[in-house]
Amino acid sequence: MKKASSRSLQFGTDWTYAPAPESSAHIQFNERYGLFINGRFQAPSTSRYFASINPATEKEIARVAEAGSSDVDKAVRAARTAYEKVWSKLSPSERGKYLFRIARLIQENARELAIIESMDGGKPIRESRDIDIPLVAAHFFYYAGWADKLQFAFPGRSASPIGVAAQVIPWNFPLLMAAWKIAPALACGNTVVLKPAETTSLTALKLAEILQEADLPPGVVNIVTGAGATGAALVSHPGVDKVAFTGSTEVGKHIMRSIAGSGKKYTLELGGKAANILFEDCAVDQAVEGIINGIFFNQGHVCCAGSRLLVQEGIAKDVLRKLKDRISTLIVGDPLDKNTDIGAINSKAQLQKIKTLVNAGIREGGECWQSECEIPSKGFWFKPTLFTGVAQSHRIVQEEIFGPVLAVQTFRTPEEAVEKANNTPYGLSGGVWTDKGSKIFKMTSRIRAGVMWANTYNKFDPASPFGGYKESGVGREGGLHGLYPYVNLS
Ligand code: NAD
Repeated sequence: MKKASSRSLQFGTDWTYAPAPESSAHIQFNERYGLFINGRFQAPSTSRYFASINPATEKEIARVAEAGSSDVDKAVRAARTAYEKVWSKLSPSERGKYLFRIARLIQENARELAIIESMDGGKPIRESRDIDIPLVAAHFFYYAGWADKLQFAFPGRSASPIGVAAQVIPWNFPLLMAAWKIAPALACGNTVVLKPAETTSLTALKLAEILQEADLPPGVVNIVTGAGATGAALVSHPGVDKVAFTGSTEVGKHIMRSIAGSGKKYTLELGGKAANILFEDCAVDQAVEGIINGIFFNQGHVCCAGSRLLVQEGIAKDVLRKLKDRISTLIVGDPLDKNTDIGAINSKAQLQKIKTLVNAGIREGGECWQSECEIPSKGFWFKPTLFTGVAQSHRIVQEEIFGPVLAVQTFRTPEEAVEKANNTPYGLSGGVWTDKGSKIFKMTSRIRAGVMWANTYNKFDPASPFGGYKESGVGREGGLHGLYPYVNLS
């Protein structure tokens, strides 16, 4: 494995930033958290609690209840009662008022939520503070606005709610995924049972406290914590009318099989293996920044991460040199430090998965290059890594790594770029970098991916739909499209 030259050599001076950590002294955690059912926290029937740890320190933050199937049943029943007796009967503008109130409370608690997200999940505070939490509030504001305007979303048709939605989310954007799921469901008049990921339950539980403060009627949102078994019990519960899942393709396929023939509506937001395509006429420095943002943002724990780079041959050497220089400046470390670029890998298991795939890449003949940055001795970390000399059939080109690892390939013609970009089982997102608008349209219309960015990457907005082709999922979330899965139309 080749190593980068040190940062001091790059810049001819030995510089580091003084530590600038966000204080977490004022954050109050309960020693343990119960299940949020029917508007109040309660002990699980299993009497079992599991640890939620800080991946940057490996220290336990709090213990979280493990819901068994009878708890899931209780939560689904609470959601059903709230649906029939309260929420579906409420006027749309009243539903909107609750959502606006939740959005404002999220803004008021933004700092605390950002710190908890970084402590529990490992993402840099710059991202949780400036991207995740503002987007969480924006999603609630956006769907609050739709609550009493559904007749304009579906002109000439009448929209009615579906019933109880089972929502299962992953660990990479914990509170944002909760917002993506809860806000449109509630706006359309449905009630919810949400299951957060087992390594990042804490912001969802803080959200439960916010829902209490917002006086949301009991049972409208229920939050059951636990691992895969809890999720499986929830999606297969007969009292559920709609399943919304975000997570791995493997689990998504399993869920699809488990609900087949049940008549439940479903949306699946799954994995990705996006290509960033750089043409010779692009603004190279801007593109390099986009590639960095595309794959190293949130440790590469992003379904739509630009984990592959396709660069046109004429600029490949130049781009690689600039990319390595830039990667060498990235700071890996304390997620709570505002200068950190790459935080902690979410869990030991995820770190192991990244290592396994990187080793497979080396074994298959790829040339692996890593930044020489320092990493803390405790916690889960992975240095930003880049592979060249890879073939389309290599595992690191085909499989989702979900870590800060970029596979670089070259191309000569637009046809070759399209062929390579489309040649994976996924189709979630991608990026095109070129000076020519016509080329943008030509490329983006030929690439089979749900989200395409042009001369930028990883930009999100609640008004934009999001979702995949092929093994990246079924259905869309976000924007007007995100209302469809939560209504029956007549
Ligand atoms: P995962 O599939 O392992 O787990 C996701 C959630 O499903 C967790 O809450 C987990 O407890 C639960 N779960 C596990 N087994 C289950 C089962 N049999 N039935 C029901 N629920 C079950 O995924 P992860 O590792 O938490 O997240 C990473 C994956 O999520 C990546 O593949 C990433 O691409 C994907 N993701 C996709 C999007 C998108 O919008 N397309 C967004 C974020 C993450």
